[in-house]
Amino acid sequence: MGKTIFSKIIDKEIPADIVYEDDQVLAFRDIVPQAPVHILVIPKKPILNLKHVEPEDQDLLGHLLLSVKKIAQQEGLSNGYRVVINNGTDAGQTVDHLHFHILAGRSLLWPPG
Ligand code: 5GP
Repeated sequence: MGKTIFSKIIDKEIPADIVYEDDQVLAFRDIVPQAPVHILVIPKKPILNLKHVEPEDQDLLGHLLLSVKKIAQQEGLSNGYRVVINNGTDAGQTVDHLHFHILAGRSLLWPPG
């Protein structure tokens, strides 16, 4: 399988508005924002989605969530934010690389569509 668009962003082959990066995680603004703040947080390890995580990924998954908290603080999301992980076709996953959406900056509807 070829590289996903997110792997190309990790490798800096295509540009992105990066808001956070460390050795395991990259976060950047979504190119088609669904809210005033819409950030994607991804592992640098190419995991397709939650169906493909393994017990060895436990620390990485915890690190991703702690990164979400750090980014939310950095972005000043004091009114709250939503974290979404789309997994598979019915959930609307369009990029085959695990990603957490952070959505914020407006009142979000529930349930989602
Ligand atoms: P999914 O639908 O798979 O949960 O989310 C994929 C997200 O990636 C979408 O919100 C889409 O707008 C975003 N996206 C797709 N291609 C690019 C890109 O090249 N750059 C950035 N920054 N976001 C992208």
